[in-house]
Amino acid sequence: MKFADLHLHTQFSDGTFTPEELAGHGARLGFAALALTDHDSVEGCARMAAACAAAGIEFIVGAELTAEHENTEVHILGYFLDTENQTLLAEIARFQAVRQQRIHEMVARLNEVNVPLDVESVFALANCKSPGRPHVARALVKEKLIGNLDEAFEKYLKKGRPAWVPKTKVSALESVELIHQAGGLAAMAHPGLNRTDEIIPALVDAGLDGIECFHTKHSTAMSERYLEIADKFNLLVTGGSDCHGFSKGKPLIGGIKLPYEHVEKLKQAVASKKSADGRHAAAK
Ligand code: AMP
Ligand code: ZN
Ligand code: FE
Ligand code: FE
Repeated sequence: MKFADLHLHTQFSDGTFTPEELAGHGARLGFAALALTDHDSVEGCARMAAACAAAGIEFIVGAELTAEHENTEVHILGYFLDTENQTLLAEIARFQAVRQQRIHEMVARLNEVNVPLDVESVFALANCKSPGRPHVARALVKEKLIGNLDEAFEKYLKKGRPAWVPKTKVSALESVELIHQAGGLAAMAHPGLNRTDEIIPALVDAGLDGIECFHTKHSTAMSERYLEIADKFNLLVTGGSDCHGFSKGKPLIGGIKLPYEHVEKLKQAVASKKSADGRHAAAK
């Protein structure tokens, strides 16, 4: 049976693998298709596409956009994006500038509570345009200012802790639109993590195409629940490991094996959108 992982991160955001390493794991594990979904970035997609092509794996361009709906953070996955789309690239650049500024603010707050972290050490470690809290956590561990990553989040970085800084975000409805205008499909990421089911109808009204039913942190019952929701709202089914590198001694990729039939349906959906757009353009 063919299977896919449609939620993966690399060093172009807060993952620890290079695109080549990630594609290598995908090949070793027998994946037929992979999508790269770095946070607020499509920069790794070109290298990932080349690495997947070399390994005989089908590659889908993606990104995971940070968004909010009524003060709740939601992550919207975009698939089949046009990485040359200027509106998308301009918005991504804006999101990345916010992320970089937020690193300065988080470090300033750590310094206020007498944690002597140097902001340059975070940027040096992150070495990407889309830095986030995991980079601050890793820098804290590296500088021996905390024991491990979990402690860093628990003590300093999670919501309500001293170094927590909210991100300025686009509305989830706008991010669905941003993905659509770049030729992509929009899917709600890990709905079971955010506990925000009540916002699904509004996202569907905004044109949401899919929902991530399968995710490392979804229980079987959760996956079943979101499969029912997908059915009810006529949404496409997506799924992925959300691999950021090694977790408890092994790479997270491989834990979720999305049946390939869902990839077929995604491809059909994006193709039929494109042909509908073509007809509209021809009719003008
Ligand atoms: P950010 O986008 O900067 O707010 O960081 C969010 C990322 O931090 C998520 O995508 C996870 O990769 C990671 N993360 C969030 N909470 C935790 C946690 N408690 N422990 C480890 N990593 C976490
Ligand atoms: Zn992440
Ligand atoms: Fe996420
Ligand atoms: Fe993710």
